[in-house]
Formats: sequence, C-alpha cells, structure tokens
Amino acid sequence: MCDDRSVANWGTSTYGNPCCECGFAWTTPIDVGTALVLDVVNSIKEQVASSTGNERHPQLGWSVRAYVCHVGDNLRIWAERLAGVLDGGAVQVHGYDEQKLARARHYDGISLEAALLALSRAVGDWYDVVARSPRSGVVMVHSERGELTLSDVVALNAHDCLHHYWDIETILGRAER
Ligand SMILES: [Zn+2]
Repeated sequence: MCDDRSVANWGTSTYGNPCCECGFAWTTPIDVGTALVLDVVNSIKEQVASSTGNERHPQLGWSVRAYVCHVGDNLRIWAERLAGVLDGGAVQVHGYDEQKLARARHYDGISLEAALLALSRAVGDWYDVVARSPRSGVVMVHSERGELTLSDVVALNAHDCLHHYWDIETILGRAER
C-alpha cells in the first residue's frame, strides 16, 4: 500500500499527472503556480463577463456563479491558513466540506458582481501572504493532505483555480468535456 501522502502523489492518484481534465502538472514550481493563480482568476473574470452566472452543465454540480464563489472562498481560506502560520498560529489545519460551505453560503443567492468582487479581494490577499511565506520546509500540517510545504499549498490552490476555470469554460460551451 502506498503511504506517500505528498500533494503530488495525492493529486496524481486523484486527477492524474497532469490532471486528465484541466491539464495541471502537480510538479508546477511555486513561481509558475503563483502566476497561474493570478492569470486564471483574471481569465475567470473575462469568461463570465457576458454570463448571467446562472448557467449550468448537466455533468457539473454547480452554476457559473457558484464556481466563482468557490474559487474565491477557497483562496481566502488558504490565505487565512498561511496568515495564521506567519502570525505564529497553529500549523495544524483542517479540511472543509466545500459542498456544505456552498449550501451554508447559498452561493446561488449571491450576485455575480459580488462574487467577482470577493474573488478579486481573495486573490489579492492570497498573493500577498504567499509572497511572505517561507519557501522551504513544512508550513502546515493538513488533516487530510499531511505535511505541506509552500510549494504544495500553491500547487493545490493553482489546481483548484485551473480546474474550476475549466468547469466554467465547459458550462459556457468554450471547452469540451
Ligand atoms: Zn484538474
């Protein structure tokens, strides 16, 4: 049985390497991953500019606006985790259930404009705290992913952004599934 709990191993076994859906490579370096997050968030803003946010795809569980809300929430949560570590806080962090969070926040009741504002603020905070985080060594221990370096965190976050950008493109008919 494989006991390698590395992010690259988890990502590869869950999605393939590169991800068989969005094409993300789990070995993406920190600087490339950081730039990717910024680029993808800008691309999401462009993709949804002519969207109502209500569009859906039969194979996907969320609407366009829900994916925008999720990407923003996920970046904000990871920025908060990294900020806590920088502040001398606990290095143990816990996963969250994204489906429960979506229901609790009533994603489909949030205006697309507001979701995009939240996403812009979240990516700014995320970028700021990543830039101040140590680039070597373990930065936190995640209850499900194990010990994480900054490189692992950036890879997880970059994949989440890219994968859901691909979901949004699929919903809007701009990507094949
Ligand atoms: Zn993917």
